[in-house]
Formats: sequence, C-alpha cells, structure tokens
Amino acid sequence: MYVQKEIARELIDQLAEEFPSARVVHRDTEGLPARVVLFIFMYRLLQFFNSNLSRFSFVVGQYIVLPSASFKFTEDQMTDSVYKIVRHEMVHLRQDRDNVLWKSRYLLWPLPALITERGYRWEMEAYKETMNAEHRLYGYVDDTVIDFIASQFSSPNYVFMDVRGKKVRKELEDHRASLEK
Ligand SMILES: [Zn+2]
Repeated sequence: MYVQKEIARELIDQLAEEFPSARVVHRDTEGLPARVVLFIFMYRLLQFFNSNLSRFSFVVGQYIVLPSASFKFTEDQMTDSVYKIVRHEMVHLRQDRDNVLWKSRYLLWPLPALITERGYRWEMEAYKETMNAEHRLYGYVDDTVIDFIASQFSSPNYVFMDVRGKKVRKELEDHRASLEK
C-alpha cells in the first residue's frame, strides 16, 4: 500500500534537510561504495551462519540500505513499509552523527556487557520512531506491532541485546500511551 503523497514528500524533505548527504540506496544498487558492499557481504556471511537473521535494512555511514529496488523511496510510490523503515533508520543516522560508540557497535558485539545497555537504548529509540510512523499513517499502533517489536528484542537480529521481555513491552506500551494522549 502506498502512503499519501504529502506524507511521502514530508519524509523525503525531512531527510534531505537534516542529512543533506544521506542517500537511500538498495542492496542491488550499482556502484555502491566499498564499505557498503563490505557491510552487505558481512551481513550475508552472518546470515549464512544464522538463517534466522531476517532484518534487512540498515545504515552504513550516510547510506540507508534497503533490500531491493522495489523498495522505492519516491513521492508517488512509497509503500508504508518503506516509510516506516526510513523513519526508523533515520534515528540510526542521528545516532551515527551523535555517538562515537555507535560507529564501533559491530566491533563491540563480542563484548555484550559493554554494549548491551547502549544497544538496547539505541534500538528502543529507533523502534519508538517506528511506532510514531505507525501512528502517523494509521492513527493508532496495533498490538501486533508491539508484539513484533518486542519479539525483535529477543531475536537473533540484534546479537547485542539481552532478553528483558516485560521491561521491553512496558516501555513500548508506555510509548503508545503517550502517542494516544
Ligand atoms: Zn534499528
């Protein structure tokens, strides 16, 4: 389902204004810079060892990498899922801009005690933005969204996060309540 043109336009403009050098690209975009290609390669390697790894959009430097060319980031063909992904990934662009530690997050994976709390906060911040996007599009945040996000926090997609089911759910539900005020 495509989002309304004005909502798509608003996000395109916001990204361009806040991050003038950011680009939304796709894994199959030709001529991606080496570090993006390397990142995609590493991701595939991880996927090889862990087939449960299903997360497929990420930020590398100023690049928001989407799965394939069908994930269009244009005014008239932006699906709601692209809209939500880009809003989520923009939070990671901000984290990249504002935190030195963020850049080394993948190197820190082997040191969970050091990175767990940070990783949790970063991802929670981004998923709250996913919820904001849901609310913007549909006017509410469904229980299934909360379920999905909560499940991400105990999934293999985020190696650095520990499992704190109740705490996670409470934080998500509190955020939903704040949106509904
Ligand atoms: Zn994220």
